[in-house]
Amino acid sequence: MNIDFNKNNDGLVPAIIQDSNTKNVLMLGYMNEDAFNTTEKTKKVTFYSRTKQRLWMKGEESGNVLHVVDIQLDCDNDTLLILVKPEGPTCHKGSDTCWNTKNEVHYGFISNLEKTIEARIKVGNTEKSYVASLFEKGINKVAQKVGEEAIEVVIEAKDNNDVLFLSESADLLFHYLLLLQAKGFKIDDVVTVLKEREK
Ligand code: AMP
Ligand code: ZN
Ligand code: ZN
Ligand code: ZN
Repeated sequence: MNIDFNKNNDGLVPAIIQDSNTKNVLMLGYMNEDAFNTTEKTKKVTFYSRTKQRLWMKGEESGNVLHVVDIQLDCDNDTLLILVKPEGPTCHKGSDTCWNTKNEVHYGFISNLEKTIEARIKVGNTEKSYVASLFEKGINKVAQKVGEEAIEVVIEAKDNNDVLFLSESADLLFHYLLLLQAKGFKIDDVVTVLKEREK
């Protein structure tokens, strides 16, 4: 790997640390050549600590080491992306990452939609928001709506109209997310159950 250690004239390159499973960015550190070679050899992320002014294996005190899965160099050879399996929380303040205090898992668009639903419920503008108005009618009504949309999906599955099938699928997924929230859950809680079954 031909790393350009001298772009900043300090022999250091930034190393972005990303969880290989969740794809969360966990932390950022700096590496000199020695730190990089040590990381490659030991398969445990080792930085050059600018504060301590020495090699610093992440987890050397806490035990929360970062096991290297893959190392990638960026387009102009001056920044590392290191995919890892973290052992324990990566931030020394106790959270999984140095940026979220909450240990949230992200499901891209679906998580954003969950946040929108949450916001609509919180504001509770029942005149302007469909979500707020349905939510106000109570869990039974939301659950009934999920049932209706499920039946519509079943009906459209029998036909050959893909547009209608996908449209009803979207309705079902949307109302299902609403029902999960009404019950105080998120899609991640369901994923946890599915993952348990994998074992
Ligand atoms: P550790 O490497 O986890 O044993 O932590 C040793 C020390 O390094 C801690 O007491 C912090 O001062 C520092 N440290 C650990 N993890 C981080 C981090 N994610 N970001 C910044 N400093 C950290
Ligand atoms: Zn670059
Ligand atoms: Zn931190
Ligand atoms: Zn529908």
